[in-house]
Amino acid sequence: MRLAVLSGKGGTGKTTVAVNLALSWAPYRKTTYVDYDVEEPNGFIFLRPQIRDTSTVFLPYPEINKACTFCGKCSEACQYHALAVVGGKVLVFPELCHGCGTCGIVCPVGAVDEVERPLGKIDEGERDGLLCLQGVLKEGESLAGPVIRGLHRREKEHSSSLEEIIVADCPPGSSCSVIHSAEGSDLAILVTEPTLFGLHDLKIAVGLMREMGLDFGVIQNKDDQGTLIQEYCAQEGITLLGSIPFDLEIAKIYSRGQSLMQDRKWNDLFKTLGERIVTEVKQRKTEGEII
Ligand code: SF4
Ligand code: SF4
Repeated sequence: MRLAVLSGKGGTGKTTVAVNLALSWAPYRKTTYVDYDVEEPNGFIFLRPQIRDTSTVFLPYPEINKACTFCGKCSEACQYHALAVVGGKVLVFPELCHGCGTCGIVCPVGAVDEVERPLGKIDEGERDGLLCLQGVLKEGESLAGPVIRGLHRREKEHSSSLEEIIVADCPPGSSCSVIHSAEGSDLAILVTEPTLFGLHDLKIAVGLMREMGLDFGVIQNKDDQGTLIQEYCAQEGITLLGSIPFDLEIAKIYSRGQSLMQDRKWNDLFKTLGERIVTEVKQRKTEGEII
């Protein structure tokens, strides 16, 4: 069972929900937490896993050799403007290169060699039986895609049974990175907060899920007993999976970099929420329901 935890915007408590749900399932079934928010991964701050493996994600880029005739075909073919032929020289801009390999294909004289540069890394660790993976994009880099794809591959290598739960902590927003992190999930959990900004971004996230054809439900964080989110969900026929109260104690635990599962009260809340989500996925699978 793959669950994607998303939010239309940052700061809604997405990682809090993802981390604590993963911890709530880990004692009972094989669970993997994967932090796909590669530009700003912070799930490991709360999980504090024992890191057992780190691997570098590389991206290929061209290096021009002496066979070059400066015909300019590679530069014309590059969609990303990562090559320019100027005054008898081919200039390569590695930071713009997406590693697509087109320049090597179009070069008529085999003057394009492929070299690699490090783009980020993937960490793998464990905490109390919970397998933890995170992707980290190198500072100054903007191409999250290859790191996300690397994480996807690592996630697949580890997933062995249908009973296993994979919690994909996706980036905030509605970019390509969000789509690539969430696709293939059995349920997307949209975390929101009861503010006008929260509602605005929730609507964008709902639109994205519908566009992707992904099943989804909503968790309301910082529930202040208002009706803003409930009314929207009722109006749109969206399942409200649960709520987390607006409570100063949660903020204090968060600011200490601890998981809420260490506290009895919140432990019970996330266990109940976790059971509700598993039941919801099973029910939807049985009924073949699509929102
Ligand atoms: S296509 Fe090949 S030969 Fe032409 S400029 Fe590029 S590297 Fe040089
Ligand atoms: S590999 Fe693709 S993106 Fe990179 S320079 Fe060549 S054509 Fe451009």
